[in-house]
Amino acid sequence: GQVLPVVGGPKGVKAVISEKPLTGKLAVVTGAARGIGAAIAEVLAREGATVIGVDRPADESTLGATMSAIGGIVCPLDITEADAGLKLAAVAAERGGKIDIIVHNAGITRDKMLRNMASHLWDMVLDVNLGAIVRCNEQLLAGEAFGDGARIVCISSIGGIAGNVGQTNYAATKSAVIGYVDALAKEVSGKGIAVNAIAPGFIETQMTAAIPVVTREVARRLSSLSQGGLPVDIAEAVTFMASPLASGVNGATLRVCGQNLVGA
Ligand code: NDP
Repeated sequence: GQVLPVVGGPKGVKAVISEKPLTGKLAVVTGAARGIGAAIAEVLAREGATVIGVDRPADESTLGATMSAIGGIVCPLDITEADAGLKLAAVAAERGGKIDIIVHNAGITRDKMLRNMASHLWDMVLDVNLGAIVRCNEQLLAGEAFGDGARIVCISSIGGIAGNVGQTNYAATKSAVIGYVDALAKEVSGKGIAVNAIAPGFIETQMTAAIPVVTREVARRLSSLSQGGLPVDIAEAVTFMASPLASGVNGATLRVCGQNLVGA
């Protein structure tokens, strides 16, 4: 670290400015094998964090490649498992630490017009995008698995603010995450834990490549990142939320979508 004089500080006091703001922090990123989650893992590691990358066991080889590039820890785990939070706490404990940062990024779409939306598609999207986050955080909080000053960052979506055709299930979950973050922030601020969300606009990943063309074009038009934003745009915003630079930010949802033309 670089030693600099403290501006306005007592004479002779020096501040040690670490070049990497997340040095010594243990960060969990779900859905880290590819797309936005892989970019989040990469930028957190670049800023000094040790990253535990979580993804479905079926994606273990992709996850392994992503984690080996950043010196991260591979944690194959389906976040919808009933005890996923307990497993994450155990992995962190094995590394000798508490969780300083958790980024709930794993998410899915199962797009259909509402009239064709089978109830299992509602349930599945609700469980991955909302239920799993709620259960994990409950278990981590109950087990006191978070370190001092921990940061919880949830990935919502502009789709949860403005909605998209064919995404009633997805929009409902992403909107719920915004309210959840605000309420949980109030509940746990006394423990020194901050809870925030990022609402990305249209980002080019495998998820958006898979959604129907009509939905994709509407989503793209609603964002002035008209060619689609990049995963790194979200990763840098998440890293801000996880860093000391955001020490006064709690219960907030940050839109990362360029100028949101829908005006929502
Ligand atoms: P991707 O589909 O490219 O990547 C998501 C990753 O999460 C995949 O590796 C996926 O694994 C994993 N995952 C899904 N379900 C689970 C689970 N139950 N347990 C563990 N891992 C799981 O998505 P993106 O990178 O595009 O999206 C990341 C997040 O950002 C999501 O929450 C999404 O809703 C949100 N978002 C994305 C936007 C975009 O434009 N791309 C816009 C706004 C929000 P598998 O391949 O096995 O499913």
